[in-house]
Amino acid sequence: MPPAIQAIEKGSVHRITAGQVVVDLQTAVKELVENSIDAGATSIEVRFKDYGLKSIEVVDNGTGISPNDYDSVALKHHTSKLATYTDLTALQTFGFRGEALSSLCALCDSVVITSATNEDAPVGTILELDRNGIVKNRSGKIARQRGTTVTVSGIFVPLPVRRVELSRNIKREYGKALALLNAYALYPCAMENNGIRLAVYNQPEGGKRTIQLRTTGTQSLQTSVSSLWGPKALENIVPLELNMTVEPDKSILKRVPGASKMQVKVTGLVSKFRHGCGRASNDRQFFYVNGRPFNANKVQKALNEVYKSFNTNQSPFVIANFVLPTDAYDVNASPDKRTIFLHSEANLIMAFKTSLEDEYSLSRSTFAVNGP
Ligand code: ADP
Ligand code: MG
Repeated sequence: MPPAIQAIEKGSVHRITAGQVVVDLQTAVKELVENSIDAGATSIEVRFKDYGLKSIEVVDNGTGISPNDYDSVALKHHTSKLATYTDLTALQTFGFRGEALSSLCALCDSVVITSATNEDAPVGTILELDRNGIVKNRSGKIARQRGTTVTVSGIFVPLPVRRVELSRNIKREYGKALALLNAYALYPCAMENNGIRLAVYNQPEGGKRTIQLRTTGTQSLQTSVSSLWGPKALENIVPLELNMTVEPDKSILKRVPGASKMQVKVTGLVSKFRHGCGRASNDRQFFYVNGRPFNANKVQKALNEVYKSFNTNQSPFVIANFVLPTDAYDVNASPDKRTIFLHSEANLIMAFKTSLEDEYSLSRSTFAVNGP
């Protein structure tokens, strides 16, 4: 009898794992925008057709893709960002696994890339990719300023169940993608870099193309907040700046006896204690680790708890970037890279809560002395 345990056929493995990397519309968009930021783009345009069901196109003015890299651009685990496992501890880029483009190729009807690398000679090449990420068609030269355009059409068509689910919930899924794009629109400021101009458009089937969100590419976080939600959004928020000392937790001390304390800075914006953003939900709360947006459920819970003790009616607006040493967290914890493991997480959260409480207590006592 042949052995029961057999290797899964290579193409099938690819499709199985691809479905975990790009799980929904927002992860598809996120991966493309992250690639543009990694390529040093200062201007990014995201164009949805029919809320992304028909196509998603991301246009940037980044470095472009060199002709030497055309053949490997969408091959699985091919990346220009990471060479060895140890590089993970000093990661500066969003991408590192070389999985996004190859996964999109496996999960979409078509993926087409147009790219140009040379500022002085604005010509590019169009690459059409097949399901395995292999270039099936390469055009001659076309006019294109330096940068890259990636167009993915018919997302999840090869996974009919997911496609039907997406179509059924498209407005909600599109809303989630826009919410995540807000986090990236704020990202460059969270990183104190020059801003990225981000513009997002949607064209519904048979309708007109309209702008969905836009930032101007400024250096100020306040200006970006104002472009996204209007100047009123700025009225009751103040700069957030916390400097915390985080004790190493027991597990680290066991491994590295005498491990030193970690200095952590948190920067951003937060609601004043009296005026939250008036919402019960948490849709204006953005958390970053060194500028990388992440699912910060525990940190978010801590913030909301502290805020509640000062203001029981509202929840706060917050943009909080945790500035941490690059070896103090692990971004490789989930296929979509939205979960981040933090060293001494419980101590970090405790320190965050205490500093936040101190800040709010201080502003409350100043408020009491100085009046409204
Ligand atoms: P990763 O980002 O993890 O490297 P991807 O599959 O997202 O993997 O991208 C593969 C490679 O393609 C990247 O390492 C990069 O070299 C190149 N690339 C992808 N998108 C762009 C872009 N917008 N501009 C320039 N290069 C890009
Ligand atoms: Mg990538």
